[in-house]
Amino acid sequence: MKSPEVPASAGLLAAVRAIATQTAARHAADVDAKARFPAETVAALRDARVLSAAVAPEHGGPGCGLRELAEFCAILAQECASSAMVLAMHYSQLACITRHGADSPWFSAWLRETVQRQDLLASMTSENGTFGDTRSSICAVQRDGDRFTLEKDATTGSYCAHADAILVTCRRDADAPASEQVLVMVRREDCTLQQTTSWDTLGMRGTCSPGFKLASSGHVRQILPGAFADSSAQSMVPYSHILWAALWWGIAAGAVARAAQFVRGQARQKPGTVPPTAQALAQLQVRLQAMKQNWVSAARDFDALAGERDELMGMGWALRLNNLKIACSEAAPQIVHGALQVVGILGYKNDSPFSLGRHYRDALSGSLMISNERIAAKNASMLLVYKDAA
Ligand SMILES: Cc1cc2nc3c(=O)[nH]c(=O)nc-3n(C[C@H](O)[C@H](O)[C@H](O)COP(=O)(O)OP(=O)(O)OC[C@H]3O[C@@H](n4cnc5c(N)ncnc54)[C@H](O)[C@@H]3O)c2cc1C
Repeated sequence: MKSPEVPASAGLLAAVRAIATQTAARHAADVDAKARFPAETVAALRDARVLSAAVAPEHGGPGCGLRELAEFCAILAQECASSAMVLAMHYSQLACITRHGADSPWFSAWLRETVQRQDLLASMTSENGTFGDTRSSICAVQRDGDRFTLEKDATTGSYCAHADAILVTCRRDADAPASEQVLVMVRREDCTLQQTTSWDTLGMRGTCSPGFKLASSGHVRQILPGAFADSSAQSMVPYSHILWAALWWGIAAGAVARAAQFVRGQARQKPGTVPPTAQALAQLQVRLQAMKQNWVSAARDFDALAGERDELMGMGWALRLNNLKIACSEAAPQIVHGALQVVGILGYKNDSPFSLGRHYRDALSGSLMISNERIAAKNASMLLVYKDAA
């Protein structure tokens, strides 16, 4: 798959392409079958210094923009969606630090160090009792002098057991309302994780996302400056929705690539004829192209506006990002379904080179990963007051 723009990261882009085809593709079926962490792929990303791609030059990184990071996730997802989701979630957390922590000496030093160490960051926003609403917390960070303690009962914590640090949402203090949240960086060595549920899911099995009870402590400078309301709207939501959309597109593109290979095989069997499946394949390309334009344009516009914090806090952006998330999470399984209709029984079989089972199962997670119904309800209330045309 060609990439149109490769400014700051030509070397990284080539590395991600090689990791996708040589490492992620090789281990994807085993990662899925065993619901195990894609350790080989993450190790390769670390070795190629892909994990620090978003770190700015003043902290020693290449300073890749969202468009470039999205391309990395899209490429990886064509071979292993779980690996791509790990990378996307890591970048969404890293963006909160690069964009909201750079003025803090502690986070600034951490950014410089992570370029060397290539830390992997996980996220803990979900919590038992908040029902999938990332913008409210029950748990609170407890400060005592320059130390903090924090406990959280999370419903879902992707690859937390494999991460070097976890960014945890919580109330700013024990007296704060549920929506007054901060983001705390909990280092793996400063916490215990008690697994509370299993992760035997239909898809995205390699993200290893069971529930965890977290108990942690640390220095108060590990609390990211500012309110989570700001880092969420200006960074975590734009990065996660755009990167997820890119990787869901990657899953669909991987499925369409298998269908195209199948159709070409049919064409070779009857030279000079166009197989009847070729037309359905052509229609899938139309949907794939529209889906790609949706996340590419959002990523480009975000890169152009990245410093305009007030605009990113506006309803226009919130609606656009929510629409992108809903549209792409719905389109991906539909396109995979279309690819399955093209391939037929060889796509339905698990042991065929044209198998599409993993693509299908992985793509189904998108609409649940922050429920589309929940997002649509937020859009509905914004649209009561937001009058600009989309
Ligand atoms: C692959 C994967 C990885 C994940 N990784 C992480 C992670 O690393 N860290 C983390 O914190 N979380 C993670 N999550 C959790 C995720 O982000 C959501 O918080 C969680 O999936 C929501 O769970 P839920 O569906 O039970 O909750 P809810 O959002 O409460 O949804 C429950 C039901 O209520 C419906 N519903 C909710 N609101 C409305 C409404 N307003 N109108 C109508 N119906 C509504 C939904 O459609 C759904 O049927 C992950 C999820 C997935 C799938």
